[in-house]
Amino acid sequence: MKIAIAGAGAMGSRFGVKLQSAGNQVTLIDNWVDHVTTIQRQGLTVTTDDGADHVYQMTAKRPQDVTESFDLVILFTKAMQMDQMLQQLSGVLGNHPIVLTLANGIGNIETIERHVPKDHVVAGTTVWSSSLTGPGHITVTGTGSISLQAMVPAKFPDLSGLIATLNDAGLNASPADNVLAAIWKKAGLNSVLNTYCTLFDCNIAEFGSLPNWRTLNDAVLNEFAAVAQAAKIQFSAADVTALIAAQFDPDKNGGHYPSMHQDMAKKRPTEIDFLNGYVARLGAKLNVPAPTNALLAQLIHSQESLKGIK
Ligand code: NAD
Repeated sequence: MKIAIAGAGAMGSRFGVKLQSAGNQVTLIDNWVDHVTTIQRQGLTVTTDDGADHVYQMTAKRPQDVTESFDLVILFTKAMQMDQMLQQLSGVLGNHPIVLTLANGIGNIETIERHVPKDHVVAGTTVWSSSLTGPGHITVTGTGSISLQAMVPAKFPDLSGLIATLNDAGLNASPADNVLAAIWKKAGLNSVLNTYCTLFDCNIAEFGSLPNWRTLNDAVLNEFAAVAQAAKIQFSAADVTALIAAQFDPDKNGGHYPSMHQDMAKKRPTEIDFLNGYVARLGAKLNVPAPTNALLAQLIHSQESLKGIK
């Protein structure tokens, strides 16, 4: 399959390597010039669990240099970069590839549907992970899985070809029954752990050790539940709270600093407007107040401003 990875940072590069290694023709597309030129010059370096470096020769391009067509475009920008990437790839999208997004945050599907017919869009969530260690270099640990669903199942009834391509690459994909609920569940988790760990400069176990973590958690998730109900999206604050509590074990994810914490440390913009900020905005539209989420979004934006992040 001819596959474009649009947004080839940590996750896009990891997926790109796996898909190319399974025999697909993969093009990494990215706006970070140093990253693209490093891959062009010396390949993509992947550091694995055992500390070994593996170098993969990959095709890497900036969006403006892409002219060919693809069967599948996997969008792996950060949520706030997605609209720009889709605009830059308007020529490529004119050939009607399948567009798959597995990015975190709520609202990505709406962004994609401004550029791509809904019946070509597949959305999902993933628990694969990866870190962008520097231009042309990612560090990967562990394994993961993908859960996905077509946005118009009636027009796109058979995902088996796409799922087979992902599974041939060892990506552990399976169909989801309610991908919007899955996206909101993951966003609920991220809107608690990412946001508070970033504000408190702590890891997940340290957040879980706070005597009032439940109060902080419930303030976010009860608003999520109210807004989701008004938007007719399935969401259980209790289920997300249980998922969050399961992350505290220091032998599992407890020692991990969530991606928003890492973005802030690297002085990169965060995805806050697609997490707490999205729920605050949607709540305002639906007359369901979400003041805690609105305040948390403001606090993260203030921290970004103090660090000079634009
Ligand atoms: P990333 O930050 O590694 O890359 C996203 C984009 O930002 C890429 O285009 C990258 O080139 C660019 N970028 C990164 N650092 C840059 C720098 N210093 N200068 C210029 N450009 C830079 O993002 P990611 O971690 O791959 O995440 C993509 C999506 O997947 C997000 O929605 C994220 O929340 C989600 N996600 C990430 C992980 C993870 O473990 N990284 C896991 C699950 C979901």
